[in-house]
Amino acid sequence: MKYHSLNNPDLQVGFSRALLSSLAPDGGLYMPNSLPRFGADELARLGALPFHACAAHLSRFFVDDKFTDEDLRALCADAYDYPMPLTTLAGERLDAATPEPGDEYILELFHGPTLAFKDFAARFMGRTVSHLLSRSDESRTILVATSGDTGGAIGQAFLNLPGVRVFILYPNGGVSSVQVHQLTSMGGNSNVKAIAINGTFDDCQALVKKAFADKDMSSEHHLMSANSINVGRVIPQSFYYFWSSVQAKAAFPNRPIVYSIPSGNLGNLTGGLIARKMGAPIHKFVAANNANDPFVDYLNTGEYTPRPSVPTLSNAMDIGKPNNFPRILSLFDDDFSAITDVCSGYSYTDAQTERHLRKTFTHDNYLMCPHTAVGHMALQDFAESTDENYTKITVSTAHPAKFLDEVEQIIRETVPLPSLLQDCIDAPSHKHVMEPTLAALEEFLKANC
Ligand SMILES: *Cc1c(COP(=O)(O)O)cnc(C)c1O
Repeated sequence: MKYHSLNNPDLQVGFSRALLSSLAPDGGLYMPNSLPRFGADELARLGALPFHACAAHLSRFFVDDKFTDEDLRALCADAYDYPMPLTTLAGERLDAATPEPGDEYILELFHGPTLAFKDFAARFMGRTVSHLLSRSDESRTILVATSGDTGGAIGQAFLNLPGVRVFILYPNGGVSSVQVHQLTSMGGNSNVKAIAINGTFDDCQALVKKAFADKDMSSEHHLMSANSINVGRVIPQSFYYFWSSVQAKAAFPNRPIVYSIPSGNLGNLTGGLIARKMGAPIHKFVAANNANDPFVDYLNTGEYTPRPSVPTLSNAMDIGKPNNFPRILSLFDDDFSAITDVCSGYSYTDAQTERHLRKTFTHDNYLMCPHTAVGHMALQDFAESTDENYTKITVSTAHPAKFLDEVEQIIRETVPLPSLLQDCIDAPSHKHVMEPTLAALEEFLKANC
């Protein structure tokens, strides 16, 4: 599979180059030149495999000859060694053998090591990058700006991998206290360093962009991005849509499927749209935003207006200029009506999110994180807007305990901490506080070679 720059279709590279360089030399985002398309028989065959085996099969089409089938099978089995339940609010699993009568499901993508869906992409990326670097004498320095979840997932996925250093830039005071522990507990003498930037997430992202744009700095440190501008982050996010939609279709063959996705940089939605283009039986997507809703505005008005982000309760979605918007346009050849045939959008205030989170907890005894609550509300509003009877799947992007203080305050009860999070809280914390300037970043990179 070749990848091209969205700025210039003639600028093409293989998977390894696209992955290790993040952006095309002309600054464009990489996209696959084509996508495989699977028919009904093949969908059924892939759906009958365990998820990691299905992922290995799909990844074959996206990588290059530096990966054998055996490499991909081992890599995916190792990356995806945790469950991915498709469950009702009451905790009944969707299972093709014993279909439940319900039509509303949660796809829980938060059972990986850092308890957010970002693990799916980060673990695939970490293993593919490590595979490539271990067969060359190249090294990489990963700069990753995070609003909370990406940094932890990338740090964990690359922790102690040879040939890679990771610098995580997060807004000082702008992520949850549990997330701070996750980010700062990997440091010490490892190859992963957490940097608390005195500024917002936008400042972190702007600083990373400046570093990449600085030719000297970029080439001296072999900088690489692990944010969703990197196509290696987006591709694996198609795998769980592909596999889970086949499961849902097998259980309920006559119902069309809609997914609701709590969205920020739109990488998760882009993964879903790629799965759909590969033939996954998905009818529609609902994009759910918080107050940072340039994409929902676009779907509803046709006008796209990026803007500075504002802080909200669902902080991983506090994005004013979604990275992956150009990829979504390209998947639909810039055809607005084609996009709105497939995607609907809804946005919510923090007050609505709090109310919904409390309601699903008290009425349904299901505790969701604030991001998932936004997605769940959007799915309910979408369902009310149509007469069609869908299998409705809300994508749950993080474990509620990642936002412990916020969630406990909303439900006024204590939330038990999963042991993975307790371990981070108990571990020593290492961070470096920095002003958002290129000079400060450069000095720190040099000091930590
Ligand atoms: C990253 C993240 C999102 C937003 O995903 P995008 O791919 O940026 O749209 C939503 N919820 C949580 C919990 C996240 O970590």
